[in-house]
Amino acid sequence: MLTERTLTAAFRMAIVFTSTIATLPVWAQSRSPVAPREQQVKAAVHDAYEMYKHDMSGKNADYIPYLAHVDSKLFGIAVVTTDDRSYTLGDTDYSFSIQSISKVFTLALAMKEQGSEKVFEKIGNEPTGRAFNSVVAVVDMPTHTANALVNAGAIATTSLISASSADERWNKILAFYGAAAGEKLSLIDEVYKSEAATNQGNRALAALLLKYDRIYSDPLEAVDVYTRQCSVGVNVKQLARMGATLANNGVNPVTHEPVIQAGDVPEILSAMTMAGLYDGSGGWAWHVGLPAKSGVGGGILAIVPGKGAIAVFAPPLDEAGNSVKAQKVIAYVAGKLDYNLFSPRSVGLQR
Ligand code: GLU
Repeated sequence: MLTERTLTAAFRMAIVFTSTIATLPVWAQSRSPVAPREQQVKAAVHDAYEMYKHDMSGKNADYIPYLAHVDSKLFGIAVVTTDDRSYTLGDTDYSFSIQSISKVFTLALAMKEQGSEKVFEKIGNEPTGRAFNSVVAVVDMPTHTANALVNAGAIATTSLISASSADERWNKILAFYGAAAGEKLSLIDEVYKSEAATNQGNRALAALLLKYDRIYSDPLEAVDVYTRQCSVGVNVKQLARMGATLANNGVNPVTHEPVIQAGDVPEILSAMTMAGLYDGSGGWAWHVGLPAKSGVGGGILAIVPGKGAIAVFAPPLDEAGNSVKAQKVIAYVAGKLDYNLFSPRSVGLQR
C-alpha cells in the first residue's frame, strides 16, 4: 500500500536519481538503458558467420562495371551498440561502396537543414511497388519523387542540400557521413568513374523530375553529387557506427557528437521500413521487422532503435538487389536477440 511515508521516500529517491542524472555528462545521460548483453550478441554473430560463410547464392551487381569485379567471397559482419561496444567478424577492414545506403544519411542531412515537414512535402514517403530506378514510378507516383530511398527521390534529396556549388554540396554530404561514422570517409574513385560512365538511367530520372518541377538544383549536377555519395567507401565497422548513431537517437555512440536530429530518427526509420530493401521491403518487414537499407555494393545496414546496428557486407545479390548473405545473417541475429520491432518480445514481454 502506498503511504505518505513510502511516497515521500520514493520522492526523495527520485530527487537523488534526478540530481545524479543531472550531473552526468550529456552523452552518458543519453545512453540507452536497453543496450544488449555482450555474450548473447557475440554468440549470435559468431553462429551466423559460421552458418553462412560458404553460402554463395546470388550474383554481384554488374550494371556498374566495377561491382562485377569485386571478390564475391568477401564477407564481413559488424554490430555496434548504443553503449559503444562492437563485435566484428570476417572481412571487416575491406572498404566497399556504400551505394544506396548513403540515401539514408543524405535524407538525415536534408531533414536537419530544411526540417522534416519540408522534406516530406518536397520528396514524400510512399513506397513505389517498383524497382528502385523505375522511370514509370516517376510518372505514376503523385509526388513523382515517391520517397528518399528510391533513385529519383534520392537524387532530389541530394539536390535539396543547401550549397552554392556542387563541390560544396558534396563536401557537406561527405563530412556528414564521416560524423555519423565517427571518422573521415572518402570516395572510391574507381567506383565513381565506373558509375559516372554508366549512369544514363539516373540522368534520365533527374531530367524527368525537372519536367515535374521536383528537383531542386541543376539535374545533372544533382546526379553527379548523388553518384559521388554512392561511391563513398565504408567498411562494415564504419557502416555499423553510422547505423548505431541512428539507433542512439542521432548521437554518435563513439564520439558522442549529436549528428542527426533526435526528432528525425523515427521518420528516417519509417522510410527505411517502407523502401529500404527495394521490392523486398515488405517481405523483410514480415520476416525480420527491422528498419534497414541495402546497397547494390553488397552492404545492408539494419537499425535496432535504442540498442544498436548491424552491418553486413557480402557482394552477391538476389533478384531484388539485396545481398543474400547479409539478409540471412541479419535475420538470424535479429531473431536470436528478439530484435523484431513489431514484436512485443523486443521490449521484454515474454509469453
Ligand atoms: N548508385 C546506385 C544507382 O544509382 C545505387 C543503387 C543501389 O545501391 O540501390 O543505381
